[in-house]
Amino acid sequence: MRPQEHKRGRDDVRPLFLRQAGIPLTRPRIVFWSYLIDARKALTLPEIIEAMRERGIGRATAYRCVKLFTDLGVLRSFRDITGETCHVLVHVGDGHVLVCGRCHAVVELPAGREVVRMIRHAQAVSGFEVYGSELMLYGLCSDCRLALS
Ligand SMILES: [Zn+2]
Repeated sequence: MRPQEHKRGRDDVRPLFLRQAGIPLTRPRIVFWSYLIDARKALTLPEIIEAMRERGIGRATAYRCVKLFTDLGVLRSFRDITGETCHVLVHVGDGHVLVCGRCHAVVELPAGREVVRMIRHAQAVSGFEVYGSELMLYGLCSDCRLALS
Protein backbone atom coordinates (compact mmCIF):
# COMPACT_ATOMS: atom_id res chain seq x y z
CA MET A 1 0.00 0.00 0.00
CA ARG A 2 1.45 3.36 -1.01
CA PRO A 3 -1.06 6.13 -0.44
CA GLN A 4 0.64 8.71 -2.60
CA GLU A 5 -2.61 10.10 -4.00
CA HIS A 6 -2.35 13.05 -1.66
CA LYS A 7 0.85 14.20 -3.34
CA ARG A 8 -1.06 14.98 -6.53
CA GLY A 9 -2.58 18.17 -5.23
CA ARG A 10 -6.09 19.24 -4.44
CA ASP A 11 -7.76 18.06 -7.63
CA ASP A 12 -7.59 14.43 -6.60
CA VAL A 13 -7.80 13.94 -2.87
CA ARG A 14 -9.62 10.63 -2.81
CA PRO A 15 -7.94 8.01 -0.61
CA LEU A 16 -7.68 5.43 -3.38
CA PHE A 17 -5.60 3.14 -1.16
CA LEU A 18 -8.84 2.36 0.70
CA ARG A 19 -10.34 0.89 -2.45
CA GLN A 20 -7.12 -1.05 -3.04
CA ALA A 21 -7.53 -2.48 0.47
CA GLY A 22 -11.13 -3.44 -0.31
CA ILE A 23 -12.55 -0.69 1.91
CA PRO A 24 -15.40 1.39 0.46
CA LEU A 25 -14.73 5.04 -0.38
CA THR A 26 -17.52 6.59 1.66
CA ARG A 27 -18.19 10.33 1.82
CA PRO A 28 -16.99 10.61 5.47
CA ARG A 29 -13.70 8.86 4.61
CA ILE A 30 -13.13 11.15 1.64
CA VAL A 31 -13.98 14.24 3.72
CA PHE A 32 -11.69 13.03 6.54
CA TRP A 33 -8.83 12.40 4.12
CA SER A 34 -9.23 15.84 2.49
CA TYR A 35 -9.18 17.47 5.90
CA LEU A 36 -5.99 15.64 6.91
CA ILE A 37 -4.23 16.72 3.74
CA ASP A 38 -5.35 20.34 3.99
CA ALA A 39 -4.48 20.61 7.70
CA ARG A 40 -0.72 20.16 7.12
CA LYS A 41 -0.16 19.78 10.86
CA ALA A 42 -0.61 17.33 13.71
CA LEU A 43 -4.19 17.30 14.97
CA THR A 44 -5.72 16.58 18.34
CA LEU A 45 -8.81 14.39 18.52
CA PRO A 46 -11.01 17.36 19.60
CA GLU A 47 -9.74 19.32 16.56
CA ILE A 48 -10.58 16.43 14.27
CA ILE A 49 -14.03 15.94 15.79
CA GLU A 50 -14.83 19.66 15.55
CA ALA A 51 -13.65 19.84 11.93
CA MET A 52 -15.72 16.77 11.01
CA ARG A 53 -18.76 18.21 12.83
CA GLU A 54 -18.42 21.39 10.73
CA ARG A 55 -18.49 19.15 7.66
CA GLY A 56 -21.61 17.31 8.77
CA ILE A 57 -19.88 14.19 10.10
CA GLY A 58 -20.68 12.90 13.58
CA ARG A 59 -18.35 12.11 16.44
CA ALA A 60 -18.64 8.31 16.19
CA THR A 61 -17.85 8.36 12.47
CA ALA A 62 -14.89 10.69 13.10
CA TYR A 63 -13.54 8.26 15.72
CA ARG A 64 -13.96 5.36 13.30
CA CYS A 65 -12.07 7.28 10.59
CA VAL A 66 -9.18 7.98 12.99
CA LYS A 67 -9.06 4.30 13.95
CA LEU A 68 -9.30 3.07 10.34
CA PHE A 69 -6.57 5.38 9.03
CA THR A 70 -4.40 4.59 12.06
CA ASP A 71 -4.90 0.85 11.53
CA LEU A 72 -3.92 1.30 7.88
CA GLY A 73 -0.71 3.04 8.96
CA VAL A 74 -1.34 6.40 7.29
CA LEU A 75 -2.06 8.18 10.57
CA ARG A 76 0.41 8.11 13.47
CA SER A 77 0.03 9.48 16.94
CA PHE A 78 2.48 11.21 19.25
CA ARG A 79 2.28 13.25 22.46
CA ASP A 80 2.97 16.96 22.24
CA ILE A 81 4.80 18.95 24.94
CA THR A 82 1.57 19.20 26.99
CA GLY A 83 1.11 15.43 26.85
CA GLU A 84 -1.88 15.62 24.51
CA THR A 85 -2.13 12.93 21.84
CA CYS A 86 -1.91 14.30 18.30
CA HIS A 87 -2.40 12.56 14.98
CA VAL A 88 -0.06 13.03 12.02
CA LEU A 89 -0.56 12.00 8.42
CA VAL A 90 2.45 10.01 7.21
CA HIS A 91 3.44 8.60 3.85
CA VAL A 92 3.47 4.86 4.24
CA GLY A 93 6.66 3.37 2.88
CA ASP A 94 8.75 6.51 3.04
CA GLY A 95 7.27 8.66 5.79
CA HIS A 96 9.94 10.89 7.25
CA VAL A 97 8.59 13.88 9.14
CA LEU A 98 9.55 16.44 11.76
CA VAL A 99 6.70 17.41 14.10
CA CYS A 100 6.65 20.43 16.40
CA GLY A 101 5.49 19.43 19.86
CA ARG A 102 4.19 22.93 20.58
CA CYS A 103 2.42 24.29 17.45
CA HIS A 104 2.01 20.88 15.76
CA ALA A 105 3.64 22.01 12.51
CA VAL A 106 4.70 19.11 10.30
CA VAL A 107 7.64 19.23 7.90
CA GLU A 108 8.23 16.35 5.53
CA LEU A 109 11.80 15.24 5.07
CA PRO A 110 12.90 13.73 1.79
CA ALA A 111 14.65 10.40 2.23
CA GLY A 112 18.13 11.86 2.21
CA ARG A 113 21.51 10.22 1.97
CA GLU A 114 21.80 9.93 5.76
CA VAL A 115 18.51 8.02 6.02
CA VAL A 116 19.54 5.70 3.20
CA ARG A 117 22.89 5.12 4.94
CA MET A 118 21.09 4.36 8.24
CA ILE A 119 18.77 1.88 6.50
CA ARG A 120 21.72 0.16 4.80
CA HIS A 121 23.47 -0.11 8.17
CA ALA A 122 20.29 -1.52 9.78
CA GLN A 123 20.08 -4.12 7.02
CA ALA A 124 23.74 -5.03 7.36
CA VAL A 125 23.64 -5.56 11.12
CA SER A 126 20.21 -7.24 11.25
CA GLY A 127 20.03 -9.27 8.05
CA PHE A 128 16.65 -7.65 7.33
CA GLU A 129 15.63 -6.58 3.86
CA VAL A 130 13.95 -3.23 4.47
CA TYR A 131 10.98 -2.47 2.20
CA GLY A 132 9.78 0.71 3.85
CA SER A 133 10.54 3.13 6.61
CA GLU A 134 8.87 5.70 8.78
CA LEU A 135 10.73 8.28 10.78
CA MET A 136 9.01 10.82 13.00
CA LEU A 137 11.23 13.32 14.79
CA TYR A 138 9.68 15.40 17.57
CA GLY A 139 10.93 18.80 18.63
CA LEU A 140 10.29 22.51 18.58
CA CYS A 141 10.15 24.44 15.31
CA SER A 142 12.21 27.65 15.02
CA ASP A 143 9.17 29.88 15.70
CA CYS A 144 8.33 27.96 18.87
CA ARG A 145 11.95 27.96 20.02
CA LEU A 146 11.97 31.75 19.57
CA ALA A 147 8.63 32.13 21.39
CA LEU A 148 9.89 30.10 24.34
CA SER A 149 13.28 31.81 24.63
ZN1 LIG B 1 6.22 25.05 16.49
